[in-house]
Amino acid sequence: MNQDYRVLLYYKYVHIENPEEVQQEHLQFCNELGLKGRIILASEGINGTVSGTVEQTDAYIKYMDEHPLFAGTVFKIDEATEHAFKKMRVRLRPELVTLRLEDDVDPLETTGKHLKPKEFFEAMQREDTVVIDARNDYEYDLGHFRGAIRPDILNFRDLPDWIRENKEQFEGKKILTYCTGGIRCEKFSGWLVKEGFEDVSQLEGGIVTYGKDPEVQGDLWDGQLYVFDERIAVPVNQKEHVVVGKDYYTGDPCERYVNCANPECNKKILCSEENEHRHLRSCSHECRTHPRNRYVAQHGLTEEEVNERLMNLQA
Ligand SMILES: [Zn+2]
Repeated sequence: MNQDYRVLLYYKYVHIENPEEVQQEHLQFCNELGLKGRIILASEGINGTVSGTVEQTDAYIKYMDEHPLFAGTVFKIDEATEHAFKKMRVRLRPELVTLRLEDDVDPLETTGKHLKPKEFFEAMQREDTVVIDARNDYEYDLGHFRGAIRPDILNFRDLPDWIRENKEQFEGKKILTYCTGGIRCEKFSGWLVKEGFEDVSQLEGGIVTYGKDPEVQGDLWDGQLYVFDERIAVPVNQKEHVVVGKDYYTGDPCERYVNCANPECNKKILCSEENEHRHLRSCSHECRTHPRNRYVAQHGLTEEEVNERLMNLQA
């Protein structure tokens, strides 16, 4: 297998005076290198996932190490066989991760304790401890730490409200939070501290680092890790693989995500290939019969053929 590509995942909270200028420079440099990926720049820092050959990614890491703002950025590196993105984008945003707090948290000033993978592994197993997944519900559904709490949210920005509504579950407990690469927890754990929770810790380097740690090797992680590039799912636990994902239609074990074919819905659905075809890759009857259903268009189904599948579903 050709493994000459790499995917880099990284972030750094750092005050940037002139994000517009940095954006221009950064995009130009990445394009010259031939990297592909998605980078967010804000006055509070940088957050990116990029893919490229070993040479290209090495050159990027060197550039970052020598950059006056970004020196010291920690890179999580995955081996890959091809690019994980189609394009190179560098976008300006008001925040690196969208929380839209009325009273913003600066993780450089307020954040939870950082735990190394081994420390997190041990802390998870202590009494009076709750583990809160700081990601979205569809990420949790594909894989999560054993026993972690699943906030019932579609977007990260809904997390603070959800915590306030479910406060009694966490009061007086030690709180552990985790996310993909660590960036969401920097803010979320800081928010928990500000909110008055006394014992708040976060997994340093996120799930990605935890899975590569030579000691813990992803232990106590079930399922796979949802990632925001073309790979969609990557393994974490090197010791055992327990499937926790469930087929949306049948409840059978499943780790294959598709998007609902109704372009106005686009909901992420775990389902087998067989069920994708059976249900026209749609989450509901409304979505199956939507006039712009993408599955119907892609497969060039006639009205008769669509009706036949709908009949089969009823039967
Ligand atoms: Zn739908």
